[in-house]
Amino acid sequence: MSEHDPTEATDDSAETLFERIIAREIPADIVHETATTLAFRDISPQAATHVLVVPKTRYRTVAELAAADPALLADVVATAARVAELEGLDNGYRLVFNTGADAGQTVFHVHAHVVGGEQLGHFGR
Ligand code: 5GP
Repeated sequence: MSEHDPTEATDDSAETLFERIIAREIPADIVHETATTLAFRDISPQAATHVLVVPKTRYRTVAELAAADPALLADVVATAARVAELEGLDNGYRLVFNTGADAGQTVFHVHAHVVGGEQLGHFGR
């Protein structure tokens, strides 16, 4: 791991919450599932619609996923687009991959936030 990796302080081996949701060990409000991905509502929604999309195989960040399995990253994005369709986000939505501590990533199992259902403000600080 490079000294510039923004996520290197995290424990690689620890199972995350999302593996437990994928295994149905803890409940989640699942909105869509494919062979390779799962989509469920964020427990603390930041907009009218806020769904998380995860690959069933764990990678810590989107950069790690892109490097290791680009087809699986494409699956995650396609599932996000399908969720937007199912949720009626016809006027647009935001797709966010928080990456590392400065971005506020708290769960180190890569996930896309699908956020919409209302006019969103610009993001930043
Ligand atoms: P991050 O901050 O890592 O980008 O996103 C993690 C997201 O997981 C947060 O938006 C947080 O609200 C959500 N989250 C945390 N715990 C749970 C949970 O137990 N169930 C669900 N559905 N979402 C959770």
